[in-house]
Amino acid sequence: MSKEITSREQDYSQWYIDLVLKGGLADYSAVKGCMVIKPYGYALWEKMRDALDKMFKDTGHVNAYFPLFVPKSLFEAEEKNAEGFAKECAVVTHYRLKTDPDNKGKLMVDPEAKLEEELIVRPTSEAIIWNTYKGWIQSYRDLPLLINQWANVVRWEMRTRLFLRTAEFLWQEGHTAHATAMEAVAETKQMLEVYADFAENWMAVPVIKGVKTANERFAGAEDTYCIEALMQDGKALQAGTSHFLGQNFAKAFDVKFSDKENKLDYVWATSWGVSTRLIGGLVMAHSDDDGLILPPRIAPVQVVIVPIYKGDDQKARIDDKVKNELIPALKAANISVKYDDNDNARPGWKFAEYELKGVPVRIALGARDLDNNVAEVARRDTKEKASYSLDGLPEKIISLLDEIQVNIYNRAKAYRDSHITEVNSWDEFMQVLDEKTGFVSAHWDGTGETEEKIKELSKATIRCIPLDNKQEAGKCVLTGNPSTQRVLFARAY
Ligand code: AMP
Repeated sequence: MSKEITSREQDYSQWYIDLVLKGGLADYSAVKGCMVIKPYGYALWEKMRDALDKMFKDTGHVNAYFPLFVPKSLFEAEEKNAEGFAKECAVVTHYRLKTDPDNKGKLMVDPEAKLEEELIVRPTSEAIIWNTYKGWIQSYRDLPLLINQWANVVRWEMRTRLFLRTAEFLWQEGHTAHATAMEAVAETKQMLEVYADFAENWMAVPVIKGVKTANERFAGAEDTYCIEALMQDGKALQAGTSHFLGQNFAKAFDVKFSDKENKLDYVWATSWGVSTRLIGGLVMAHSDDDGLILPPRIAPVQVVIVPIYKGDDQKARIDDKVKNELIPALKAANISVKYDDNDNARPGWKFAEYELKGVPVRIALGARDLDNNVAEVARRDTKEKASYSLDGLPEKIISLLDEIQVNIYNRAKAYRDSHITEVNSWDEFMQVLDEKTGFVSAHWDGTGETEEKIKELSKATIRCIPLDNKQEAGKCVLTGNPSTQRVLFARAY
């Protein structure tokens, strides 16, 4: 083994950290709670970003960029939003340092360089964006406004975890403005569908679409829709959110438009975001004790080719086959392929390394294989190895990649589906959470107090009220009070 990985059974948290660090996705940094995204991790993010960006553009959105800082007076304009994020805000108070007269060689904040108005480092950009929209929207002709930005945000999280929860993270945030509530709600739901489509068809992570309870809603939203995924340790992960903001921000920033009858009304808003958290979710949903398992559609390297040879003659023959036939054919099919002919590392070491990095398909090609017109093909998801004829190999690799994508999804879905358990009593509720884990489908009396109490007692939160929920009379699992539907609880990241 090239690098030791803690097994999931031994210590799931450490296994995850090992994979992120040793798989080359990220590193810790000098700033507590902030991470360095390493080239391999960033390549993965780029793949995700590109796919999502295309989906946003296909649904009519355009990209723009707004400032990192939000003047405090703007930040506090929408009160609920401000209150919700206040505890996690980094605040800029000064714009200059100076040499400390009492401590040579050290710097201090220059007291004379105090900002007249403090600046908040954006934890989310509604405030700065709606303040800008005020100048952009006058009439119905200016609507809808469908804008997205790719950015970093800062939320001063106390308990952080690589990718899943960091103080600074990368994300996209869509901010749209509409003439009617109906249109805005339709947009909110449309973007939820986009996220679900991306999670399932690109990341191979099955998700449950639902609505958050009032307690779990985004600060300043009328409704928060979400996609919830399940990790291999049975904990849930909020993988994306789409908010219907009503007219809250339009009122806070006085954004009105005149409709076709020249009547003035406040604009309706949505916002929606996914972040680098998705990378953590991807790692936790699919990987195993040997390393990452990446779905082919977003794997930075989809196929790696490792030559096995003795001496220059053999190497030259393999090179010829790989460089003049295999690579061009795979590249022509838009497959990212790496030929690792670095002779400083042995094939066995390389195999372990690419397993660790989750490269979906590995082709090993030796001189004897060439004589026999075959190559050894290993798939990362099942670790199966087989000898493939070199005739038509690229086509077979392409269909193998598709098969792996489907297999990874089906595996995650089978796990997820077998971890949604209906319970009807408190004892059962706790037992399932402690022993089986996963989502617990239970009746709840609909009150915030009960929700809080359940959280206190079990550390489980209501992940969502699934969109396809059926109405069913029952009794709240904690209070016994009447309930009209089941909701999904889970312990979550
Ligand atoms: P929100 O604006 O709170 O709805 O969050 C938007 C997206 O960012 C959601 O998909 C969250 O899961 C994700 N997110 C929230 N906080 C963090 C964090 N500290 N680190 C990484 N992702 C986050």
